[in-house]
Parts: sequence; C-alpha cells; structure tokens
Amino acid sequence: MTYESRAQAIRKIIEREPIPVDPPSNFEDIWEEYVFNLSKMKQCLPKAVFKSLQRTIEAGEKLDDSIADTVASAMKNWALTKGASYYAQVFYPMTNATAEKHDGFISTQSDGTAIAEFSGNLLVQGEPDGSSFPNGGIRSTSEARGYTAWDVTSPAYLMETDNGITLCIPTVFVSWTGKPLDKKTPLLRSVAAMNKSAKRVLGLLGNSNIAPVNSSCGAEQEYFLVDEHFANLRPDLLLAGRTLFGKPAAKGQEFDDHYFGAIPERVQVFMQDVEQKMYRLGIPAKTRHNEVAPAQFEIAPIFEAANVASDHQQLTMTLLRQTAKKHGFICLLHEKPFAGINGSGKHVNWSVSNSTQGNLLDPGDSPHQNLQFLIFCAAVIRGVHEYGTLMRAVIAHAGNDHRLGANEAPPAIMSVYLGSQVEELFNNIARGELNDQYSQSGKMKLGVETLPELTKDAGDRNRTSPFAFTGNRFEFRAVGSSQSVSGPLIALNTILADSLTTIGDLLEAQLNEGKQTEDAVVAVIQQIMSKHGAVIFGGDGYSQEWQDEAQKRGLANLRTTADALSVLNQQKTIDLFEKNDVLSSEDLESRFEVYAEQYILSIEMEVKLVIDIAKTVVYPAAIKHLDNIATTVTSLEGMGVNLNRDHINAVAYLTNSLTDNIDNLQSAIAKSNFENTKEHMQYLATTICPLMQDVRADVDALEAEIADNLWPLPTYQEMLFIK
Ligand code: ADP
Ligand code: MG
Repeated sequence: MTYESRAQAIRKIIEREPIPVDPPSNFEDIWEEYVFNLSKMKQCLPKAVFKSLQRTIEAGEKLDDSIADTVASAMKNWALTKGASYYAQVFYPMTNATAEKHDGFISTQSDGTAIAEFSGNLLVQGEPDGSSFPNGGIRSTSEARGYTAWDVTSPAYLMETDNGITLCIPTVFVSWTGKPLDKKTPLLRSVAAMNKSAKRVLGLLGNSNIAPVNSSCGAEQEYFLVDEHFANLRPDLLLAGRTLFGKPAAKGQEFDDHYFGAIPERVQVFMQDVEQKMYRLGIPAKTRHNEVAPAQFEIAPIFEAANVASDHQQLTMTLLRQTAKKHGFICLLHEKPFAGINGSGKHVNWSVSNSTQGNLLDPGDSPHQNLQFLIFCAAVIRGVHEYGTLMRAVIAHAGNDHRLGANEAPPAIMSVYLGSQVEELFNNIARGELNDQYSQSGKMKLGVETLPELTKDAGDRNRTSPFAFTGNRFEFRAVGSSQSVSGPLIALNTILADSLTTIGDLLEAQLNEGKQTEDAVVAVIQQIMSKHGAVIFGGDGYSQEWQDEAQKRGLANLRTTADALSVLNQQKTIDLFEKNDVLSSEDLESRFEVYAEQYILSIEMEVKLVIDIAKTVVYPAAIKHLDNIATTVTSLEGMGVNLNRDHINAVAYLTNSLTDNIDNLQSAIAKSNFENTKEHMQYLATTICPLMQDVRADVDALEAEIADNLWPLPTYQEMLFIK
C-alpha cells in the first residue's frame, strides 16, 4: 500500500469501462424461473404425491416419507434440465451466514457407467460434517454429525454462480440427538408456538373458523457500495467489513442530498442485476433507493411468511455481495463501515396473520377487527415490556454496538412507539375514559370506529424508536444490517406467543365472569396497560431526557453486546423459551457461547488489524513525512532560512503518541486469564475498544497532517464519493 497504488486505484475507477449486462427481462417472464415451486411440482408429480406434499406445505403436516423418493427424483430432473449438476443442503448456522454442503448428482454404476441420482433419503436427511460450525459445546467434535432435513415450507431453488448451477435445498440443521444447531429450527418452532396461543385468543374473541396463524416479515436492507479498487487497498474493509481508520470527508451527509436522490448510473445497473436474480429466485424485490449517507443504499422486498422471508433475506445478502463483485464493487453489510456518517440497519417489519381473520395487527374497518387489533397490540406491548432485554440480546453483536444509541439509530433501550392516535386510544382505555364512546344502544363502541382512519403516512413515523407500529405491523428498527432476521423473528414470535397465553388467561377469566367480549377486552387492556404501559414511548428516542426517563420507568439500557448477551442465560429467558417449546436451557447456553465467541473473535480480529495497519502502513508514512520535512528544514537552515516548527512538532507528537497507543493496545490484548466468557467480553468492551479508539484518533489526526502524496490508504472522501 503506497500513495501510488491509491492514485492508480482512482485512475482505474475513472477509466473503467461499463460492465456489459443483459437488458433487464420483464419480471413476469423470469419470476420463479429458478424455483421448484408448487406449480412446477404439480406439473411433474403424480397427483396423489402432489396433494400430499401440498398438505405438508400449506397445512404444516408431516412430510410423508413414502413420497420422498418421488419428490427427490422430480426435483433432480427439473434441476438437470436447467443445467445443474450439483445439489446443496443449505442451512442457517448460528452465525449470520448461510452454509452449504455441495454434492454431485453423479453416481457410478456396476457396469462402469455414471448416472445422475438423488434419493428421497438425501432430500429429507443429509449429513453435512457439522464439526466446524459453531455449536457452543452442544456436540463434542468427536460426535461431529449434524443432520439436515428439507424444510418443505421453503422451496428448493437453483443458484447460479461462476462455477455453474446448483440445486439448493433449504434445510433445518440438528445434532444427532435432535438439538437445533441452526436458526431455522427455532424459527419454525416459534411460529408454531405463536400459532397455538393466537388461535386460542381468536377463539375467545368468538371466532369459530380459524386458519393457522403465521408470522410475516418484510426486511429492509441497508448497505454501502465501495469500488473494489479502493477496498483492495483497505485490509480493514476486506477483513473486518468496516474502516478502522479514516478522517471524515469534508462533505458528509449533512446536506442530505443523497437520500432519495438520483441513483448513480453504475449503481442502478448493479441494482437491476440484483433484482433480476431475485425475481428468478422468487424474491419479491420491491423498493430501492439511496439512503442517508453517501454511497449508502437500501433494498426491500414485499413481505412474506417469516420462514421464507428469512431464507430469502439470507439469499438477498448473498446476492448483494456476489453481484457487487461482478460490478467491481464491494458490498458492505456491516452496521458501521464509516465513522461519522450513518450506519446501516435492517428494519424488520413484522406482523401475524391468517387467511380467516386477516392481519391481526391491522385495525381493520369493523369494530370486531378493531377489538382483535387491540388485543394483539396489547399482547405486543406486554411482550416488549416483559422481554425488552431479550429483544436487545438478539440484536447484540459487535457491529451493531457502533450503531445503537449513537444518535443515528434507535437507542439500546427497548420501547414501543404506537403513533399518537393508537397511543391515545390505549391511554383512554387505560383511564376508563370511554364514556363518550358508548352508542345510543348502550353498547360500547370502544372508540374503535375511528381507528381505520389511522395515519399511515411517513410523517407519523418515529425514526428514533427501536420498535414502531407502522399502521398494520411493527417495525423492529434496531436490527443490524448484517444480521440474520431469524433471531429477531424467533424472539418476537415467542414473546407474542407468551403474551397471548397470558392475555388468553385474562380474557378467559373476564368471560367466565359473564362479561361481554367488548367489556372483557377493555378490562384486559386496562390490566395490561397498568402493568406494562411504561414501555410505550412516543418522544425523541435519541435524547438524553429519554435515557433518564427510561431509567425512571425501569427500562433497561444494555449498551453493549457484552451487557446484553447474558440475557440469553437468565432464568426468565430460559422459562420463556422452554415454556413455548422453542429452545431448551442447554440450547440457550450454547447460543450464548456461540454469540459471545463471535463477539470476542471479531473484536480480536479488529485489534490485530488496527495494530498491523498502524504499524506497517501509517507509521512508515508518518516517518517518511517527518524525514522529508526535516531534510528540508535542515537544508533551509543551512541557507539561513528558518521554517516554523509547529507542524513538524505536531506530527512528531502524534507519531509518538501513536506508538505509545499501539503499545498500550498490544499489551492490553495479551491478557488472557478471564474468569469466564462474560468477563472476557466486558474486558473487550470497556478496556480494549477504547484503546483501539485511541490508536484511531492518532491515525486520523495524522491523516490530516501528512502530505497527501505520502498517504497510502484510500480516504473517506475517495471511497464515499468516487464511483
Ligand atoms: P419504509 O422504508 O417506509 O419503512 P418500505 O416500503 O421500504 O417502507 O418497507 C416496508 C416493508 O414492510 C416492506 O418490506 C413491506 O412489504 C413490509 N410490510 C408491509 N406489510 C407487512 C406485514 N403485514 N407484515 C410484515 N411486513 C410488512
Ligand atoms: Mg423503514
């Protein structure tokens, strides 16, 4: 890394030829081209087999083992006609990544020939070597067997890469003892738990025909694009996904001219390419736009069933990264790639619905639907109040710590924003101020007839809330951009399941006293509001006043991952997940260990990078700069000309400070005797992170002093503005 390589990168970008891409196809023509969807199954499966499979997919019945061979064979034949020669069991380990094990269809025969083979056994139960996936101690390495089984509710698809086409089968991943080793298994279980308690409550509300209740998710993904020529000169971007150094550009985001501005042409071509791939894979990409920060963008799909949405979200992240490469970009999904400008989040829009009662978080336009909405919304309110710290824990990881509470993203305090209208209604009910809401017949109308006029426009959105009601769903805005949405969805569904159980009990008690449904609902909401109303907050979540107020209300403020992760091990969390059959205490313990390890590893990697770059790239540049000036100063003095030495003193001071701070960091990171994982995390959060920041402060100050033609690292200005 030298100034020359930096200058060359800029030249290459400016002289870049546009990447040839096919003109975009009509999305109707390519929609689900690469998906083995129901209509393709119908075409190629015997009727009875198809019907049986359809029941599994649509009604959640167990897959009939006897049809597996037929389905596998049809799937294989379809994949072969599309040019696939490999298949992959795709699973979702406890990292935020997607994992795949590729196998060929090839099978050699006794007569010396080879044929393509894919049996039902392989479809339903694959056996990837799970030994290298994090498992938090659930399996010892000698028992490295992990099994994958097709999640029938998420269709198989074809993935096209430079290496060819692969048939991909979304699967659950469990240990040989049946312990979940992935994020999909608990997600499916959380939906089942929510379904059970939601149906009970719907029954208590007087419904008799109640279809299965599923949770839905539409995840907005923010990301940055940086030209690969710059990224290749930034080991911090390549390895850590964020800049560990960099002086702010003269122009940041204060002009707000990037947000919803025209999308740069090269980026537009990239986006189109991503969307075409998404359509082929049946991912309903819907919106794209610039985000607040320069070089930051967003893509959002139409919402889908949580399980499918989660698989599709993982695929979207993969496609963004892969396609960016093809277009000469690096796609940064990190929560905070650049200091001083906005980071990236992933807004998880979430609701619950079924085909008979509709969206249960939609106020709807009949009084009955409004009652339903009030009860489900009350369940969410109780859930966030009871388990806000769990919601904080499931979005905890090193990257997100840079965002939460940094006045650009919601604070680490979990609260609920309802919007003024709904908030007022809940407050009125809580205070029993519903007298004017009685109609002439004396029947309570609950004020609910006014609800359909809810403002759904963006003006009523509170961008500072971590969890906001947005008209017919909640938007969990504190999720990090690089995170799997499964964790948050598992938590939300399980919390709701639990709340609906409690609310079901309360409602049942009221009904047993002989109350009318409306009166029973009002009584329950009053109980919920008096106990949990403190979690509702409509003000400015970025303000200091809220931090103080939240403390008074008893809401936790878990600032770092080190503070938040241990919530997973608390008895209250264990009880919640065990009661709802989602995860056992052993599972939670192992998840804690895995996430803690990821936190530790990622901070330690950053420390190595900081030391390395500071020592081998920045320090030599500073010395060279000092040397140049010193030589000039000396020769000028020989001529009797004296230069002011303030600058040289300042650079010398910073350079010395830099070496001191590198030394401090280096000796601090050598500590290894920790009582336990928790203590280790705390040490990194409270001692190591500030020391890294000290090194950064010196490096960024040096960047402002050292001659530009000696500075080796691409600057913020270059990375953010040259495309
Ligand atoms: P905004 O940026 O204003 O929040 P977007 O249109 O970018 O809005 O994203 C809204 C997301 O919410 C979309 O993915 C949309 O499909 C999703 N969404 C809408 N209704 C629901 C619902 N009932 N359940 C889950 N997600 C939903
Ligand atoms: Mg949004």
